[in-house]
Amino acid sequence: MSPTIDTKTAVQHDLPTPDPESPLRPRQPYRLSTLCVTVENPSMKDQYGSSSVPIYQSATFKGVGNEYDYSRSGNPTRSHLEHHIAKISSAARAFAVSSGMAALDVILRLLKPGDEVIAGDDLYGGTNRLLTFIRTHVGVTVHHVDTTDPNAVIPFIHPTKTAMVLLESPTNPLLKIADLALISKEVKERAPNAIVVVDNTMMSPYLQRPLEHGADIVYDSATKYLSGHHDLMAGLITCNRDDLAKQIAFTINSVGNALTPIDCFLLLRGVKTMAVRMDRQQTTAQLVATYLHGLGFKVHYPGLPDHPGRDIHQRIADGNGAVLSFETGDKEMSEKIVGGTRLWGISVSFGCVNSLISMPCVMSHASIDPATRAARGLPEDLIRLCVGIEDASDLLDDLEHALVDAGAIALSAQQNKYVRVQPGHAALNKAVEQLAVGSSSQTVEQEWFVSAPGKVILFGEHAVVHGVTAIAAAVDLRCYGLVTPRNDGKLSVRFNDIDNFYAEWDIESLPWDASVVLGHNERHPEDLDQPLIDALHTGPLKELGVEKAQARNAALAFLYMYIKLSSAQRPSVHFAARSTLPVGAGLGSSASFSACAATTLLLLSERIVIPSIPAPISADHPHLSHHGRYALERHSAEEANRWAFIAEKILHGNPSGVDNSVAVFGGALTYNRPGFGKPSGMTSIQGFGSLRFLLTNSKVPRDTKKLVAGVGLMKQEQPEVVGAILDAIENISSQAKRSLADSSEFGRDNLLRDLSAMINQNHKYLVSLGVSHPSLEKIREKTAAPPYNLSTKLTGAGGGGCAVTLIPDNFSDSAMKDLLAELSECGFDPYLTSVGGSGLGVLSPYAEHRNPSANSGVANQGQVTPPETPGEGAGSPDLDNSLRVSFEFQPVSELSEWASDLGTWLYV
Ligand code: PLP
Repeated sequence: MSPTIDTKTAVQHDLPTPDPESPLRPRQPYRLSTLCVTVENPSMKDQYGSSSVPIYQSATFKGVGNEYDYSRSGNPTRSHLEHHIAKISSAARAFAVSSGMAALDVILRLLKPGDEVIAGDDLYGGTNRLLTFIRTHVGVTVHHVDTTDPNAVIPFIHPTKTAMVLLESPTNPLLKIADLALISKEVKERAPNAIVVVDNTMMSPYLQRPLEHGADIVYDSATKYLSGHHDLMAGLITCNRDDLAKQIAFTINSVGNALTPIDCFLLLRGVKTMAVRMDRQQTTAQLVATYLHGLGFKVHYPGLPDHPGRDIHQRIADGNGAVLSFETGDKEMSEKIVGGTRLWGISVSFGCVNSLISMPCVMSHASIDPATRAARGLPEDLIRLCVGIEDASDLLDDLEHALVDAGAIALSAQQNKYVRVQPGHAALNKAVEQLAVGSSSQTVEQEWFVSAPGKVILFGEHAVVHGVTAIAAAVDLRCYGLVTPRNDGKLSVRFNDIDNFYAEWDIESLPWDASVVLGHNERHPEDLDQPLIDALHTGPLKELGVEKAQARNAALAFLYMYIKLSSAQRPSVHFAARSTLPVGAGLGSSASFSACAATTLLLLSERIVIPSIPAPISADHPHLSHHGRYALERHSAEEANRWAFIAEKILHGNPSGVDNSVAVFGGALTYNRPGFGKPSGMTSIQGFGSLRFLLTNSKVPRDTKKLVAGVGLMKQEQPEVVGAILDAIENISSQAKRSLADSSEFGRDNLLRDLSAMINQNHKYLVSLGVSHPSLEKIREKTAAPPYNLSTKLTGAGGGGCAVTLIPDNFSDSAMKDLLAELSECGFDPYLTSVGGSGLGVLSPYAEHRNPSANSGVANQGQVTPPETPGEGAGSPDLDNSLRVSFEFQPVSELSEWASDLGTWLYV
């Protein structure tokens, strides 16, 4: 039995607006967002006053002649939903069925053989499929026309034969606008019996109510915005005409495709939040559309000023919705973009709280054959974006990453922003890249000078292996890397501070064939290219003796990255690295080397570019760092970090990623290893000003793996004791993190006092784990003794290596001098450093930032170091007056001052 319909007396908008209390102060009808959340049906009061509509999960109802007898005909939960939908759709009647297509099926059953249908030419694929079915099986003629042009519709309107006009606005996925009001009027004037049907799925009743514009029937796939969570399928049909409502109710009851009670309940719950979801989603959609439009893509979105249907849309709708599409000009590039996003899920459909990305031609519209797609102007490269409720910046960031990785946009050094890479150019670049593979070396004119800091683990060492948080910070002892042109077909490296190592190779003799070529925008896969590593060991590195293992490894990492990054061009250059960091003392010297080598190679291959910045006003050279200014672009830093991590993998096998992250990003960060049931990864500690530390190298070599294994064994033997120590260290780490992050709030004196206490405690716990060493205890003793009274702890793996001592701000210069002398006398190497400073730096390549006096005119022309050929034999370079020579012969103690005097350093 179907509930009776009395549309003559039907309250058109059963608005639960309270009665006016006074003629002087009348109440306004509730706005739509209020209506959405207010589920009230005065004629169906719940017997217990339940706040949410109960689920009447019952197929049958007892009794005879009652309102409900069988759920196919009617169900109280469904009645509640239908009442609510009618209310927010300006409708007298609403029907809930099992899907959007089921809704259309019910509507199309109003047709009979011989009828004619006029439908849009950019319809949802499923709609096309069903229309094709009724055309071939029911004998109905279907005319697909461009409904965005009412004049294209008029010639197809037949006074008697036209039975239905099926419209979508905006269309999906091209966002074309049909003037629903005008077309309804034209149809009614020319074919009074024709019904105007609108698929309103793209808008939802919150943004558009076509019944208000003359449509006879409106349907929605409630799978989309109305439910909002992609957790149910549903279709809704609304109308104001009694005759149509009767036929619709008859069909639903006959075929049995009404929505189930539980889905009615879920849908009703979804509708309550529709207004807030839509508001948020379309605000972000506007941002995304504006962003893509600004980059020069062809974007389809009615919120953009150049959208051809914008004025009409604004007249008939209350918002622009959250679906947009754009063209890249290249199907393959589109596929890469879609595959490259992380936050945007690849999925058909839309309207979900999560953002989705798709290529209609291979997904939602694949059911339309390619020829028809082409005839209807549906570009094969079209990408559809369905915006969810995530943070807009995250969505834009994710999209930007995908666009960059796919080569759709690139950083313009001139404009200092991303610009669109014309697809033709991208293809050409690729072709040139391919052609260039195997060609001889490329001429280089530019030198690049970079530097990266070492790191110190302040808290949590060893415990981090067992899931405890570690805190690492950058030290201002740095590695420097300089790449200079050679242009003689050779590649050379010099590591002055590791055995004064020098090696050179003919570029063409490198094992190019062993490597899988990486495209310009391609990322290195997670695993190392082992065949290339093997080929480097047996080829270019073969002659280099095992006694120089450290330098040989550094050369391996450099050559590996050189080959991977030089797929198209094989620049003939010399790379020199120097370090003010003690190598092998646990201060991250290898990571800072990795960051320098990776960055110079990325700059050479133009995978990262240095945006030009305005020249400094003062003559001295400001330190542009992370104090609120990022002189080096974030994405360049991320790319450098990814490659530094690869170099670290080559050097260490299984690095945590902490050292290279500190080397690139500087400052301080916390790190948690994955696999301990807690969120893993790194977070930077913001607002952390720099602190002075003394790093004292005990010069006792140690075996990190053995030390770590020792603690592991102890944990096995005495789990409770070690567990308690780890807990205590975790406490210290989290307290330190808080103190560092809140240092401005709690005052510097308090911070120093707290850190001092924590350093002592942490060291004691490390001692009880058995990882100290007599030399480290001696350093602690010396620094703790009066008049110094300083707190010291071991850092890194312990068993030798370095100790860190916190130096209060008021520690006098003379006391420092005495302490340094005392430590040196004991045979230790003390380094006074600050912690928490800048990360990766690049000497500005722009002439206006270089210091003419610093280097006898070599760097003052902005960049060019004259190409030169190193001498024979030992390979010592010509001693002419180049930056390279000054760099390689600078005493370590003067290196950092010399480097900083060269010009402006741009930091991450
Ligand atoms: N109409 C439009 C515009 C759609 O996008 C869809 C589905 O994507 C439908 C109708 C069909 O809805 P359903 O999938 O709920 O059957």
